[in-house]
Amino acid sequence: MAVKKTKFVVGNWKMSPVSPLEAKKIAISIKKCASVLSKVTTVFAPPSIYLPLISRLCAKGEVKLSSQNVSIFKDGAHTGEVNAEMLKNSGVSFCIVGHSERRALGETDAQVSEKVNLLLENGIRPVICVGEGEHDHQGVYLEFLQNEIKNSLKGVTKKNASDIIIAYEPIWAVGAKEPMQNSDIHETTLFIKKVLTDIFGQEMAFSIPILYGGSVNMRNAKDIVMMGQVDGLLVGRESLNPIGFNSMLKEINSI
Ligand code: PEP
Repeated sequence: MAVKKTKFVVGNWKMSPVSPLEAKKIAISIKKCASVLSKVTTVFAPPSIYLPLISRLCAKGEVKLSSQNVSIFKDGAHTGEVNAEMLKNSGVSFCIVGHSERRALGETDAQVSEKVNLLLENGIRPVICVGEGEHDHQGVYLEFLQNEIKNSLKGVTKKNASDIIIAYEPIWAVGAKEPMQNSDIHETTLFIKKVLTDIFGQEMAFSIPILYGGSVNMRNAKDIVMMGQVDGLLVGRESLNPIGFNSMLKEINSI
């Protein structure tokens, strides 16, 4: 009997590596490790130019494929855009939306919600990034988070909410030296569950996976998942280092 996959580890390769050959090497090494782990769903989010290559390498589904972005347009004449239907037809089953690096380029909550809805219509699970720029102790960041989540999920119904994944990425911890403290991760994910409960009701809210992202590496990953009580990780830099990423996958699988 197949063991239920319980944790998600999504590797966001961002704009690396610089050649298909290097992308292939990284993917092969991680796929080998991921394919024997029963309690982790491993997801690659390579640059879009490598999606067909990585899709062929992972055709048996040992590792799932994610895009790093999707067009806000459903179809039509839009030079340079890739729509949700194209992603679906190319073997993509997850898509990162609203990453802080894209929000910094001007992506709004309204655009994030349009993308989320187009992805859901096409059977692709959106990994919706949310997170505050500054973490104060008066709780102002909680109000920011609440608005960001509610606006980014506009139009998502209770019926298709089961396909969404939230990636909590405090912006100040992305690409930084240290992650957020585990107790703070736990506290904030509880708050996110409360916001999701307001929107979708408790049962649905508690079934939506919440990942943490921000300076995760092979040394801190297991503690973050256990003590932060999250359903997985969104990993930037360490996802391009097969030794570190594989070690992280094994640690999470052992929980
Ligand atoms: C990210 O870009 O989503 C991320 C979490 O990056 P890093 O792990 O490098 O902080």
